[in-house]
Amino acid sequence: MPLPKNRRRSVKKVYRRTPTGRTAIHYKRAKKAWIRCRLCNAILGGVKDSRRAAKSEKVPSRIFAGQLCARCAAEVIKARARIHAGEARLEDYSLAQSRFIKKR
Ligand SMILES: [Zn+2]
Repeated sequence: MPLPKNRRRSVKKVYRRTPTGRTAIHYKRAKKAWIRCRLCNAILGGVKDSRRAAKSEKVPSRIFAGQLCARCAAEVIKARARIHAGEARLEDYSLAQSRFIKKR
């Protein structure tokens, strides 16, 4: 039976052939998946997922940091300004975008 720390899905089994020909199971910590933009699925940079790091270390201090990529954030900010100025309506934007436009 594996050790309790290795009985979880975040630990991957690696089958290794030993010099004697036996197959041993080694346990390896699985790599974290990338954090992606919620609109276009682009990989976000500068985002760390660690419990040891401080929050200011984990996410850039920008609006929609850790949620949207820079391009999508710019689009949402522009849309907000246009709606605020009365040049556009919320219905003009896609449902996915409008969720971020509405947030305050
Ligand atoms: Zn994006």
